[in-house]
Amino acid sequence: MARKCSICTHKQRIAIEADILDNVPYRDIATRYNVGRMPVQRHKQNGHIEDSLIKAHGIRKIVNADDLLVKILYLQEETLMVLSEAKDDKNQNTVLSAIGKAGQLIELQARLAGQLQEKQVINIYMQPAFIKMQNIILSELDQFPEAKYRIAERLTKEAENVR
Ligand SMILES: [Zn+2]
Repeated sequence: MARKCSICTHKQRIAIEADILDNVPYRDIATRYNVGRMPVQRHKQNGHIEDSLIKAHGIRKIVNADDLLVKILYLQEETLMVLSEAKDDKNQNTVLSAIGKAGQLIELQARLAGQLQEKQVINIYMQPAFIKMQNIILSELDQFPEAKYRIAERLTKEAENVR
């Protein structure tokens, strides 16, 4: 039986991968996310990082965009994929897990917003990329009114927290 990769299933996977692609030393990543150094290294070396993320990272190098905005683009890509899968699939469990995933992504954004605050930079909730993504998520969630309401409520609360 193949050994399960603890990074693939880590709830901060996207942030970890963004750091890997930023060439943050494995040891620092391990400390930052409280994981082992070897699993991080294996995750990279065994090709677990999605091609689309690697490509997005390449694009970022070209435009030299801000790290956090690139992370939001990763999130946007992943969220849209999850939501479109949820839309196509009539299976209730898939829909529910997609909504859960969207919630996790929003949590990650909130954490990124926290990092921004620490660095005394701009309020992420005022960023056009973030507002655009938020609008896309909420409109995609039209058919799941309960989830839409919960996510909108959560976003409002998080935005107020960083103010
Ligand atoms: Zn992995």
